[in-house]
Amino acid sequence: MDFYVRVFVRIYTSAGAMKNTPLKLSYVYQCTGCDSFHLQPLGRTVSKNTSVRYLPGFGPIVPQECTDCGKKYNMGGPIWSAPIHDQDWVTSILSDVKSMKARYPAFDRISAVLTTISEELPDVPLFVSLHNLCATLKCTSPSAVVFRSAVINAGYRISGTHVNPLGLKSDALMEVIWDIMRCWVS
Ligand SMILES: [Zn+2]
Repeated sequence: MDFYVRVFVRIYTSAGAMKNTPLKLSYVYQCTGCDSFHLQPLGRTVSKNTSVRYLPGFGPIVPQECTDCGKKYNMGGPIWSAPIHDQDWVTSILSDVKSMKARYPAFDRISAVLTTISEELPDVPLFVSLHNLCATLKCTSPSAVVFRSAVINAGYRISGTHVNPLGLKSDALMEVIWDIMRCWVS
């Protein structure tokens, strides 16, 4: 933590493995008015019996103007939109660290980060910030607990993110997030 990043790379050279790459990448459209974002996968697959075909992703995923506020989108990416953590590995490292607590001077911080990651939605690449949502609406913020309950009651999943203490990952569509915020404001 804090000192360096160590990167271990495994290179796949088979044509089959290469075909999976576009499935893990997405363009991002982010609204210039309300910061809503939408992911546009580069590729998709179609399965038929035992064969899998690799095709370009369907698009566009957003209209010219944001459906939530009417402003234009900025485009970014491609970003990595597949899971960024191996959850089994994170869980096993966390239990290793806990079993050798004395060996880690930064134990509290390391275990906090690993715990957050282990509880993070693995299949949601980006997160919203309650702070930013409220800045857009110029309203006071609901507590994270209230907001989380609203998302869960609407039938979606939600978690924190190790990237930002105020960040929340969810599989709810942006329009659901905005509906919840409308209810809060009104
Ligand atoms: Zn917008």
